[in-house]
This record gives sequence, structure tokens and C-alpha cells, in this order.
Amino acid sequence: MPIEAFRTGFPGTGVTASDLAVVVWALPQTAATRRDHRACAALPSRRWSLARHYGEAVNDRVRDRLVRALVDAGYPAVAPVRLPAFGRATSERFGIASRWSERHAAYTSGLGTFGLCDGLITERGKAVQFGSIVAAIDLPATPRPCGDRTAYCLRLSGKECDACIRRCPAGAISAEGHDKERCFAYIRETTMPFVED
Ligand code: SF4
Repeated sequence: MPIEAFRTGFPGTGVTASDLAVVVWALPQTAATRRDHRACAALPSRRWSLARHYGEAVNDRVRDRLVRALVDAGYPAVAPVRLPAFGRATSERFGIASRWSERHAAYTSGLGTFGLCDGLITERGKAVQFGSIVAAIDLPATPRPCGDRTAYCLRLSGKECDACIRRCPAGAISAEGHDKERCFAYIRETTMPFVED
């Protein structure tokens, strides 16, 4: 939760959850990256791999700079994924999960809704990387344009669509949803060794 992340960075503070704002942004992939990636079937394109790796490094700098700018202006702030406490855990209810999810922060902030595949679908599609920070600052909440948590997913909105089921090279998506363990194993055992080569 935002307050837990905040208190990790500022222990002993009297700040409460209602004093906090979560600022979330989306960094979209370029048309060239989407074009190259679209042509791939089992393994990621070079552009996508580079954007995933170096794009996240850029995203970390955005997080750090925004936190620094806010702290310097007198608003205590943390970037949850930059905290030492950030990491993955396995829960009985949700399986493998991050201690802070940029996608869930983006959903809560009205940037999109979840698809059958668990990806977050924004108004501009889902080839985006998200970032967020938590700050003790009074900001007006952005109105949420989307309906329920799966409003932008065609299939979960009652229309015909199985594109992600057919497209997933790991066979990790079915009518029942996203098999996280299968997805995780494919990334670790197939995608990562390929990209690192
Ligand atoms: S079912 Fe269709 S709309 Fe929903 S996540 Fe999969 S590809 Fe996207």
C-alpha cells in the first residue's frame, strides 16, 4: 500500500494514508518497436528487448528525479520500486506478485484496466511501461474514465476476442486467464537467455 511504502522511506512519520498522493505515468513504446515486435512469434524483437532494459533504466531515473524534486520542494516522497524492501513474493491467493505493482498503481490512477492476460490496457494500448511515486502532497485526484477493472478488455466485456490466447508463446493465457507460473518460467528459461545472448 502507498502508506507502507512511504513509511519505509520515512519511518516514524505522522503522515497518514489520506495525506498521500500517488503519481503515475506511462512511457509508450515507439511505433518502430511495436512494428518489430509484432513480427515476432516466440521470442522478443531486438528493439523491444533494448527498450525493456534501457527503457526501465530511464524510468528509474524519472522516478529518482521526481522524488528528488519533490523532496527538495518540501514534499517527502518515495518511489516504491526503488526502495530496498521492493521485490517479489509468493502469496497463497495471488501466486508470484511484486510488493508494489506499477500496473495496479496505474489502474487505480485511471490509466487503464486489466485484460484477460493481466496486462494493463490503456486508452493508447498496452505497449507501455509504467512508473510511480508516492508523496505527501495534496494533489487533486485525476478522474477515472474507465468502468470496472476489465472494461477495456474485449473478451471480458462480452465481445469476441482471443488474440492474447493465440499470441502468447508460452501458452500461459487461456479463457480462465493468465497462468503466472507458466509465464514466469518462460521468461526465465527462454526469453531471458535469448536476450542475454
Ligand atoms: S482478450 Fe483480447 S482485449 Fe482482452 S487482453 Fe486478450 S487480446 Fe486484449
